[in-house]
Amino acid sequence: MDEFEVEYPELALFIDGAWTQGAGGRGEPVTEPATGRVLGRVPVAEAEDLDRALAAAERGFAVWRDTPIEQRSAILRKAAALIRSRAQEIGRVMTAEEGKPLAESVGEAGRAAALLEYNVEEARRAHGRIIPSAVGETLSVHRVPVGPVAAFVPWNFPAGGPMRKIAAALSAGCSIIIKPSEETPGTSVLMARCFEEAGLPPGVLNLVFGVPAEVSEHLIPSPTVKFVAFTGSIPVGKHLARMAAGVMKPTGMELGGHAPVIVCADSDPVAAAKACARGKYANAGQVCTSPSRFYVHEAIYERFVEAFVAASEAVKVGNGLASGVTMGPMANERRREGVHELVLDAQKRGARVLTGGQVPEGEGLFYPPTVLVDVPEDSRILHEEPFGPVAPILEFSDLDEVMERANALPFGLAAYGFTERAATADRLVRGFEAGILSINHTGGSVPQAPSGGFKESGHGREGGAEGLDGYLVTKRVSHKLA
Ligand code: NAD
Repeated sequence: MDEFEVEYPELALFIDGAWTQGAGGRGEPVTEPATGRVLGRVPVAEAEDLDRALAAAERGFAVWRDTPIEQRSAILRKAAALIRSRAQEIGRVMTAEEGKPLAESVGEAGRAAALLEYNVEEARRAHGRIIPSAVGETLSVHRVPVGPVAAFVPWNFPAGGPMRKIAAALSAGCSIIIKPSEETPGTSVLMARCFEEAGLPPGVLNLVFGVPAEVSEHLIPSPTVKFVAFTGSIPVGKHLARMAAGVMKPTGMELGGHAPVIVCADSDPVAAAKACARGKYANAGQVCTSPSRFYVHEAIYERFVEAFVAASEAVKVGNGLASGVTMGPMANERRREGVHELVLDAQKRGARVLTGGQVPEGEGLFYPPTVLVDVPEDSRILHEEPFGPVAPILEFSDLDEVMERANALPFGLAAYGFTERAATADRLVRGFEAGILSINHTGGSVPQAPSGGFKESGHGREGGAEGLDGYLVTKRVSHKLA
């Protein structure tokens, strides 16, 4: 097989344990961002298909809820093992449809398996308690699966995104109807096959694609659905949360961010710049926790900028399937246009581009690693989530003042700090209004710790012991002995 060949799977909806095309025969092409070639055709679910998925999820829930935890866990572990054993194959499909370098994709497929395994373990500990109570009564707290879940996830983590919802729902004993992005459907299809082969009963996992608004408007108000889980942009999250509120349905919202990075005077500017650049360019900056506003102390500013530019220029941009490539294309044209508009806006207001900043000629949705300095405070890039490989680097002199700038936006997802002093690290940790904090690194999430936002970045947590909370409902049982 040549370096760029991919065995792209046949795309279908997975409803009630069977693979099917949409009832109306509608479909959309899926394209490869690195080349523009068409990889496949994703079917579009009609109302009729969604009704079948709802009925299947209802039946699947009744079966799965009452399946003993040992059996549930054996099936899910088997699915995880299959995903792990196919990480290369899944990774190639992921890179073709999303663009990220193959090593990132293969790593993500492995982490999706690890996430499932962790949630399965955690579900064993999702037990209730007995409370001392008044005479003649046994008072207990039970945690039970909430019911069928409707989940919507975007394109930037084609394996990790869907798996966060699927792993928590299925481990908790819920069934799920999930709509991954129509732009990256192949990865979910390959993962769903693993659940099918592992022996998951029909209707427990239902995979649909379609016109996003049609699917959410159909599923969210349905009385079958008991919990709505969404990852994506803040405007869409607010829209779905309003829809869910209309029927008083709980939601888990994992939305966008605009993560500040504070690099203090006592940190090593070169090491910090390298770590920041690594974090910035992972998945071409299309990560909700991507470091996106760099505040560097004036004492080390020049050296930091120089090292950051050098690290940016060392990034090898290209087709993610080619060996040696460290950053792929943007996943879609919307993103590339959006990022470039932010760069042009900053330039128009007086920012200087030290490297990058030009849309390259030729095929593929590439955008170069871009560094901006002298960025005026009113530039859009300092207020809107860039979601791309652009780094605005700003100077500061006073920690209290920069914390205020860092917390000034309505986002509260991730924040980063670089310092050698424990006391300063403590100030940053206490001061940042964000749900995900990293000190002296920009590494990603791990299954055993919760991720999620403050403020407009959403609510609910994924991963860790907290990750099952949205998928469980608490019952208080007071049993009066006769
Ligand atoms: P978008 O707002 O158009 O879509 C985001 C996701 O929501 C997509 O997967 C889309 O299919 C889905 N969606 C859109 N309308 C929907 C609806 N009515 N019902 C159900 N699902 C719906 O944004 P986009 O162009 O795909 O990405 C742009 C922005 O989204 C980024 O700049 C970033 O802010 C945000 N985003 C965030 C994350 C994240 O991990 N939090 C991931 C991807 C995108």
